[in-house]
Amino acid sequence: MTASSMEELVSLCKRRGFIFQSNDIYGGIKGLYDYGPMGVELKNNLKQAWWKSMVYERDDIEGLDASILSAPVVLKQSGHEDTFTDPLVDCKNCKSRWRADQLIKNTCPECKSDNLTEPRPFNLMFKTAIGPVDDGSSFAYLRPETCQQIFTNFKNIIDSTSRTVPFGIAQIGKAFRNEITPRNFIFRVREFEQMELEFFVKPGSDEEWHKYWVDKRIDWWESQGVNKGNLHAVEVDKIELSHYSKATVDIMYEFPHGKEELEGIANRTDFDLGSHTKNQKDFNINSDVKKNEHSTTKLGVQNLEEKTSYIPYVIEPSAGVDRGLLAILNEAYTVETLDKANTRTVLKLKPHLSPIKAAVIPLKKNNEQIVAKAKAIKNELQNLGMGRVILENSGNIGKNYRRHDEIGTPICITVDFETLDDDSVTIRDRDTMNQERVSSKDLNQFYQKYFH
Ligand code: ATP
Repeated sequence: MTASSMEELVSLCKRRGFIFQSNDIYGGIKGLYDYGPMGVELKNNLKQAWWKSMVYERDDIEGLDASILSAPVVLKQSGHEDTFTDPLVDCKNCKSRWRADQLIKNTCPECKSDNLTEPRPFNLMFKTAIGPVDDGSSFAYLRPETCQQIFTNFKNIIDSTSRTVPFGIAQIGKAFRNEITPRNFIFRVREFEQMELEFFVKPGSDEEWHKYWVDKRIDWWESQGVNKGNLHAVEVDKIELSHYSKATVDIMYEFPHGKEELEGIANRTDFDLGSHTKNQKDFNINSDVKKNEHSTTKLGVQNLEEKTSYIPYVIEPSAGVDRGLLAILNEAYTVETLDKANTRTVLKLKPHLSPIKAAVIPLKKNNEQIVAKAKAIKNELQNLGMGRVILENSGNIGKNYRRHDEIGTPICITVDFETLDDDSVTIRDRDTMNQERVSSKDLNQFYQKYFH
């Protein structure tokens, strides 16, 4: 099941501590959000799942965590200074500003006037000053995508790991875009996170690898609980391709506000390494690269059979963490009718993504023995390292169940008087609401099964 509207998700996220408007107590800032106690866990779990599938479960991908502040020359060479723009129009009537390509019938969404300026390019990159003197001479950009520092680190990584093509470099981190019209909750924001893989391949094998990664990525989203029927692989039209791309497939998802991009998988050819390399003329570069007079490093690799060096092609699956989280919340959101009058809201998250893995609830909050046993169980499960386990020492059992259904906790474990007699606990399953009695000695095993 999915949410029937974005409002339902926004409301749950605020009520249960997933996502808040940033700078809320001062009126908020558009396009910025903060992840609360549940949101930070869910986000970390999603990033961890991506990292596991990219880096730990394969042997051809290395990780990186590079700086956010980027030297202007990096983004000059990448093409962002010249082309990372959206078309901006002003409404002459109400003075609001819009992205021209998102207007319906060229009218202002605010006042419905068609008295608009001609579109002009607006660069989406944020600038900041580096060092104590802010005279405009030493500025840096906040990176608009995480991958450029993957390209600038290409040689460092090859030299330190002895990797040969094909291989990849994975990175998760913040990216910043001064979007003209941020909207649709966390779908389009100005500060967000990306999970990006740059997979370097031999020219000629690029199309095959491109297809491989499109399939892999769709399967991965499915394994995070996104119904395949709500995912659509769409080939981007040639005229809409980014300057670096030979072909791009967008994985579109049916968000509550409409079908939009969740992840883009681009064949970036040899454009990026070709633009950042020293001695461009030494290589047979295919793409239309930026002339480079600043780089200190050659970014080619050896073709051992032909005894030549070449610039690898790169396939880039680039996914948004925030959009991923929105899709996952939407997929998990379920309202169930229990009997004629009652419903319950439950987040049917995959257990590995759940913010809380188990809630341990002492049935009598003022019984020392019961509380001590509950604490001991919490500590033991916590030490298994599957994620956050919580001791619920307030509220009644019904309220606790309702809260944990809504935040997607897979199991609630209740410690009661019987526990003191026979060392067994009651386990309630989130999805079936079935309760079963399990002996404390079998609990670890029982618990771990939920996450495999
Ligand atoms: P869109 O066309 O929706 O603006 P894009 O094609 O510019 O997206 P990419 O440059 O391909 O996006 O970025 C890769 C991924 O980063 C996107 O698929 C998306 O998940 C995420 N992303 C990009 N811009 C934003 C944003 N403003 N807010 C949240 N996530 C974003």
